[in-house]
Amino acid sequence: MLMCKKCFNIGVDEKCFYCNNDVFFVDDLIAPSIQLLNLKHYKTSFCCSGHISFCYAPYITFSKRYPFIDTPKYWMHIDTVLCDYQNAKVSALYLQSKCKNQFKKAVEEDHSFIESLALLNKYIISLYRWSYSLESI
Ligand SMILES: [Zn+2]
Repeated sequence: MLMCKKCFNIGVDEKCFYCNNDVFFVDDLIAPSIQLLNLKHYKTSFCCSGHISFCYAPYITFSKRYPFIDTPKYWMHIDTVLCDYQNAKVSALYLQSKCKNQFKKAVEEDHSFIESLALLNKYIISLYRWSYSLESI
């Protein structure tokens, strides 16, 4: 779905209905969390909701380093360097290894779409609850 780069409304067109700003594409499942984080001034740069079709785990990278006190259940916070042009460490949230392995197993070994989707939803719901509970900065 599309989200406004400025007011973070979801379901906008090529330009935001509300403020006429540019929009960006965001995966449906993770969109509510991305909206909350940005409205609370935790600026995100890249994200993925995870994909069963090519066994890809969800993640979020931020535009700078944030001193998160805790992390969502099933997730871990790491410092990473995004790209060469930005030679600074930024925060990122990735699935914990055991969850990533569990997801990978459900997709690649068990070939269970329902189980894979249930796992993905569990991780994304946990991320959303954490995003919801974060204080605005
Ligand atoms: Zn807008």
